[in-house]
Amino acid sequence: VNFQEYQHLATKTASYPDLGNNIIYPALKLAGESGEAADKIGKWWRNHGFTSGKQLNEEQIHLLVLELGDVLWYIAALANELGVPLEAVAASNIDKLYDRLERGTIKGEGDTR
Ligand SMILES: [Mg+2]
Repeated sequence: VNFQEYQHLATKTASYPDLGNNIIYPALKLAGESGEAADKIGKWWRNHGFTSGKQLNEEQIHLLVLELGDVLWYIAALANELGVPLEAVAASNIDKLYDRLERGTIKGEGDTR
């Protein structure tokens, strides 16, 4: 499934108040789902000392893949609310990163370097 297909299919499952006029709900849930992924990793680090994906078992990887999917869903929902194709979000990120790479500022700080 490509970004365009994903955004189309994900949109069909969207259901929240003021859908189409609500950036608050997907923004808050995006942070929440990112937190769920980080929470799992934090617990595996605390309980098992895992610091590498190579230390995770198949079930742990599966659980993280599900959380990353949740994150992606809310990114798509927020892109929808902005009227922006998910593909454009991905493309602009790559453009930004490669521009930094070419200018040698990839390791710098600040949003607009
Ligand atoms: Mg989740």
